[in-house]
Amino acid sequence: MSDLSSKSFATRAVHAGERTPPADYRPVSTPIWPSVGYLYESMDDLDAVFAGERPGYVYSRYSGPTVAAFQQAVASLEAAPAAQAYASGMAALHAALLAGGARQGASIVAALDLYGATYSLLTGLLSTLGVQTHLVDVGDLAAVEAAVQETKPQLVLVETISNPLLKVADVPRLAEIAHRSEALLLVDNTFASPYLYNPLSAGADYVIHSATKYLAGHGDVLAGVVVTSEENQRRLFELNKLIGASLGPFEAWLALRGLKTLPLRMRRQCQNAAQVAAWLHSQPRIARVNYPGLPDHPQHALAASLFAGGGFGGMLSFEIAEAGKAEVYRFMEALQLCLPATTLGDIYTLVLHPATSSHRSLSPAERQRAGITDNLVRLSAGIEAVEDILADLEQALDQV
Ligand code: PLP
Repeated sequence: MSDLSSKSFATRAVHAGERTPPADYRPVSTPIWPSVGYLYESMDDLDAVFAGERPGYVYSRYSGPTVAAFQQAVASLEAAPAAQAYASGMAALHAALLAGGARQGASIVAALDLYGATYSLLTGLLSTLGVQTHLVDVGDLAAVEAAVQETKPQLVLVETISNPLLKVADVPRLAEIAHRSEALLLVDNTFASPYLYNPLSAGADYVIHSATKYLAGHGDVLAGVVVTSEENQRRLFELNKLIGASLGPFEAWLALRGLKTLPLRMRRQCQNAAQVAAWLHSQPRIARVNYPGLPDHPQHALAASLFAGGGFGGMLSFEIAEAGKAEVYRFMEALQLCLPATTLGDIYTLVLHPATSSHRSLSPAERQRAGITDNLVRLSAGIEAVEDILADLEQALDQV
């Protein structure tokens, strides 16, 4: 910027102090770059950035340095060639479905047990746009194979660990089944996080995260991300220029900061969840516990082989014996440490009633088909001392 000293007060108020050229230092941690636009030495340079012939940024709906740093970090943790960030997990899922071929006349084979909004996106919005979804129990690989061969889908969609029933998907085998029929495998890896598992390395084509959860980890930012090949990422990038579900730089900065402690948080959360699951399993007032780390979980051996000793995740769900919605609500209101909040993957221990929150949009019949009962509680283990979590659960159960 030219010398401002001769300019008027109003002009100096706008331009003074701005666009100082970078000096020979670099900040240790990534700054927040909120600028919407970027300047270059010449218009030819800007033109070359627009054309993708040189690196750089032109407009923050496309990308920016803080968002790019977050993408680079997630790609590294997912052992992925590239990542594309979004304003939420649902935006990431939507983009991956579109990039993967969800359009009029297309079909998708999806897990029966999925996050409620994912289920509604498939069976509601996408179905009205002419995309047909066939739901299958992904624990039954023969049924998946039959559905894929019969319906020739563009995409197969599963969650590594399902929400809210904690079923574990055999990602390597599902990738084989999908690819044999020229379908792509899209995996929602939100519950497992890259700490436990990298689905792309096992053959998945697109992996999505609600980064709101374990990646960011502190319950203070909404974000999503897709990890995939460089070619697919370019497709996502071009799509997002038109859709505009971009992650903001402030959110990217928070998510990037959260990511740094993912291994520390996940280690503790896996330990806490395992102890809570074992304790609940021993309680006569608990009818059933869903946790992949319990030896009686139907995919315990699969989870042990996929997650290779890293633990079995920080999520679990359980059914309170002889309870309905009223008793579950009483239990949740009696909790004093665990928080009845509608999210997961935080440092806080959180509980949720799937039937009336995450899976509220399903009809009672759809919930019954998926196995989501009124006495089911989902618990996301935080990083508190486990004895305090157990004591809180015990005193609340005493009040049911
Ligand atoms: N996928 C899973 C497994 C989820 O649990 C959620 C949200 O709870 C989402 C996707 C959607 O993420 P977001 O709320 O960030 O849009």
